[in-house]
Amino acid sequence: MCIFCQIVKKEIPSQIVYEDDEILAFKDIQPKAKVHLLIIPKKHINSLNEAKNEEILGKLLLRAKELAKEFKISKSGYKIVINTGKDAGQVIFHLHLHLLGGEELKSFF
Ligand code: AMP
Ligand code: ZN
Repeated sequence: MCIFCQIVKKEIPSQIVYEDDEILAFKDIQPKAKVHLLIIPKKHINSLNEAKNEEILGKLLLRAKELAKEFKISKSGYKIVINTGKDAGQVIFHLHLHLLGGEELKSFF
């Protein structure tokens, strides 16, 4: 079972900031910004390449927006990143959105 599935099952600890039937959000263990959250579907999907369900993709993005509001970075700004595959540096093959903010972020393009 993948590490994020284990987090979903609470088999390994995480700092959960949001949970419902379909989605879990928790703090990244190695934060790359003052606010760095990961938002995942509870159901395992390897990456965006395998994602088919419009509804869950929409819910993940809307949840990221709500968490940005909750963590008070809506106005200052934030990035949402989905690393997909080797060249993007995807390490964990369970679809996740990174929500980054709380400070000025480096631009990579
Ligand atoms: P990615 O390169 O998009 O696959 O990023 C995976 C992210 O998961 C990295 O930012 C890691 O710091 C984070 N990560 C790995 N293990 C854990 C964990 N146990 N709890 C929280 N975040 C984790
Ligand atoms: Zn998984």
